[in-house]
Amino acid sequence: MKVLIVDDSADALAVAKTRLAHEGHEILCAGGGKEGLEAAGRENPDLILLDVDMPDMNGFEVCRRLKQEAATCSIPVIFLSGSGDIDDRIKGLDLGAVDFVTKPFDAFELRARVRAALRTKHLQDLLLKYALIDPLTELPNRRALDERLAQEWARLLRHGGHLSVIMADIDHFKDVNDRFGHPVGDEVLRRVARLLADGCRETDMASRYGGEEFVVVAPETTVQAAADFADRLRVSICLRPLEVEGKAVEVSASFGVAGNEGLTSPEDMIQAADQAMYRAKSAGRNCVKAHQENLQAPKVPQATP
Ligand SMILES: [Mg+2]
Repeated sequence: MKVLIVDDSADALAVAKTRLAHEGHEILCAGGGKEGLEAAGRENPDLILLDVDMPDMNGFEVCRRLKQEAATCSIPVIFLSGSGDIDDRIKGLDLGAVDFVTKPFDAFELRARVRAALRTKHLQDLLLKYALIDPLTELPNRRALDERLAQEWARLLRHGGHLSVIMADIDHFKDVNDRFGHPVGDEVLRRVARLLADGCRETDMASRYGGEEFVVVAPETTVQAAADFADRLRVSICLRPLEVEGKAVEVSASFGVAGNEGLTSPEDMIQAADQAMYRAKSAGRNCVKAHQENLQAPKVPQATP
């Protein structure tokens, strides 16, 4: 893991670095508060050891700023201080630090405190990761989708451009579960998830919205381009029946597409794509409908289901 040490004293940096050597961490050093803040933002360390007394910006101020920024607020901070003053310790912990070590530190104690802080950080990272992933399909889940859409919407408000969302719903999914059982239903979900994810460009995000519904976020994509993209995804799904015990399970999905034009929030876009998807269901399934009408026919040939 990556540990950033921030201290204005070159000697203190060298000592801390030596004490943490052989623990297998990548050690980064910054010689002052401002440099430390920059390094934290740039390097995203797993832990910061932060000196309290520094001439350009003291450690308390650095910690306060780290905790204010979304990008750095979850990095644990251990204060290093020459004084064991109880008020300083309380102030440091109240500012969000996880620990306080008095200089000159004992090598074994420092290493143990660093290990403890990194263990907690590792667990926190795991929780965060799993909070955003759907366990069955391993796609980003609805919470991750909401976060991503909010980011893309903010970017759209600032820079303009296009944003599209594609809603996909597996056709007759209940029948698959009823006829072949839930393990096969789960395999269908995983298969569709993989095809959607594989079909995405690097800037797109395929997510599991819930049940047999998926949402693809397509930044900088017009609704026309998104409809063409959705049709390619549709074809990739219906061209590959799933083999189960020698039998072919036909799988297809209905798609609804919405661009940002005329819509006022990410929730609106999801709702519009959902309505378009229901029109695709009404039109016979295994097809693409867009919220914004008057689109050209998809440029790719329509596959027969
Ligand atoms: Mg100092």
